[in-house]
Amino acid sequence: MTAPFSLTSIPLPANRRLAVHVTPVAERAVRNGHPWLFDGGIRQITAGGRPGDLAVVFDRKRRFLAIGLFDPYSPIRVRILHHGEPETIDGAWFGARVAAAIARRAPLAADTDTSGYRLVHGENDGLPGLVVDRYDATAVVKLYTAAWLPHLAAIAPTFLEHAPLERLVLRLSRGVAARGDALHGAGDGVVFHGPPLAGPIHFRENGVRFTADVIAGQKTGFYLDQRENRARVQKLTRGATVLNVFAYTGGFSLYAARGGAAHVFSLDRSAPALEVAEAHFALNAGHGAVAAARHTTLLGDAFALLPELSAAGRRFDVVVVDPPSLAARQKEVDHALQAYRRLAREALTLLQPGGRLVMASCTARVPAETFTTIVTETAAALGRHLRQVTVTGHPLDHPVGFPEGAYLKCLFGVAP
Ligand code: SAH
Repeated sequence: MTAPFSLTSIPLPANRRLAVHVTPVAERAVRNGHPWLFDGGIRQITAGGRPGDLAVVFDRKRRFLAIGLFDPYSPIRVRILHHGEPETIDGAWFGARVAAAIARRAPLAADTDTSGYRLVHGENDGLPGLVVDRYDATAVVKLYTAAWLPHLAAIAPTFLEHAPLERLVLRLSRGVAARGDALHGAGDGVVFHGPPLAGPIHFRENGVRFTADVIAGQKTGFYLDQRENRARVQKLTRGATVLNVFAYTGGFSLYAARGGAAHVFSLDRSAPALEVAEAHFALNAGHGAVAAARHTTLLGDAFALLPELSAAGRRFDVVVVDPPSLAARQKEVDHALQAYRRLAREALTLLQPGGRLVMASCTARVPAETFTTIVTETAAALGRHLRQVTVTGHPLDHPVGFPEGAYLKCLFGVAP
């Protein structure tokens, strides 16, 4: 798992730039600032490029259009770093962009109650395919393209210089991990700077203590994008019985308890995740409200368990529903919409009159308006027209830099 690996074992990117000529449609997209150049948009490209080589994109008049990172293995063949006037991309350029991303998080860095948040949000921070999450003194560097590997040695010092970090851990998307031949010894889960890992990392979010298993956990170990929605939930739970569906390691559950909930139920189909949720309650037992709240885990498939709970006559004051992304491809969107309808119906059925529905969607292909309409119409069809509807968007550390970047929406409403 943590085989010795050094960034210096990765060959530096080639000095030469690849020349790329593109279709008119791709040219328009890149000119408008879209960060992705797909293989289908490429008419001609210099042969022999390797992952991480810099590719210069030319327009139809053979003028400079953009420059980006080449990846021969990904359908996104070039991830655009810069478009407009010609620009020199080197270690200093990468360092400046990373530093700018970190600087954007200054309000979070200054918050002594929070030591877990996202430092780099890929495309949306101008660093396409690169995600970096901070968990206290550990940063998880997650690559969605092998093109970043040859540039890691140049950018790693910037993280150590600008953020209070002692350890850097590498995570690879499934697609990147599958390219073992192109990884030069890098692997998913290697610590490439700092002391070896000795278990999950402890961090704090708005004063709540959590742990992240940065090697085996989902994503980089925790769903940092829900921080502000969790804080909102905390304000709704005084004396309440709360059902947290798709609970993972209990993020929303802990805030619900802290807000004074009498009884919190965490439902998930992952047994290890629910065990960590239990451990998180124990970890926060020093907080009076958390110690006073009852916590019950429900292991199983939400689509099967929710109808069972209603059939058994269970009712809740607050129901939180935070499913995983339900459509990775366009053809799955209809199915996702159907699943949202079903979940909204089940959640509303479980809500006491006057209860609160909190329902999130992280499916990028389902826009916020569509999601809101689905939930409110489902409620109306049940004769429970939602009141005080609020829909939240992205937190500061998950900026939206291009249309596909707007994935997160969370609806809060009261069901009569
Ligand atoms: N709300 C969580 C994040 C949820 S991630 C937080 O704040 O941290 C989505 C979770 O849904 C994962 O933990 C996954 O195990 C769970 N999951 C996915 N499909 C499921 C299903 N059909 N039934 C129950 N849980 C499911």
